Amino acid sequence: MKQTFTIPAKHGFSARVYKGNLLRLIDVEGEQIGDFVAYNVQDTEERLDPIATRDALETTQIRKGQVIYSNKYVPMLTLVEDTVEKHDLLSPACRPEMYKLLYEKDIPYENCYMNLSAALAKFGIEKPGQHYPFNIFMNTVLHEDGSVEFKRPKSKAGDYVVLRAEMDLFIAISACPNEQSMGNGCHSTDLCLEIDAEQSITSYVVSGKEADELEPRLVRGG
Ligand SMILES: [Zn+2]
Repeated sequence: MKQTFTIPAKHGFSARVYKGNLLRLIDVEGEQIGDFVAYNVQDTEERLDPIATRDALETTQIRKGQVIYSNKYVPMLTLVEDTVEKHDLLSPACRPEMYKLLYEKDIPYENCYMNLSAALAKFGIEKPGQHYPFNIFMNTVLHEDGSVEFKRPKSKAGDYVVLRAEMDLFIAISACPNEQSMGNGCHSTDLCLEIDAEQSITSYVVSGKEADELEPRLVRGG
């Protein structure tokens, strides 16, 4: 059965999903990045790893039919449908210190780091030092001279990706709050997640402010 969840602009979302579930993430209005992280339900030391994925796939650009790997090089999800074909496996989650450095703005709560941390805390996952997500709909361009450019997302209203869970997962998604960058269309909007599952899905919507009450801890690895 199909279960539909709204991830409001600038908010975080988390869910417990099951092996075989299909997750359709829809860009409702277009040009909205969704920072996506995942953890193995059986062992939360195992998590989605964009660097291991780049290493295993030998590319920075995942394609339909390819797998997203964990830090233990185990398939976590497969990209089974993709109407955009441009996403990011390079960038960390935006966070308060980034807004300060890059934009000289004081934005303490509206960021993907806080959103993802608060959302994962609902499932007892401790706040890491940083999140390294699969950034869905983010249009990062690598130039030959080594420079990196964040272009306007290619996603239009209604575009989507479908991910199949290859193990039981805790997932979290942040509707990126960044309104400073063309990389997020300079405007944060809603995302929609449809989960096709036999099971009833437990989920949470959170604001980044809730992360402020969480205790930090040392990260293990990246
Ligand atoms: Zn962000």
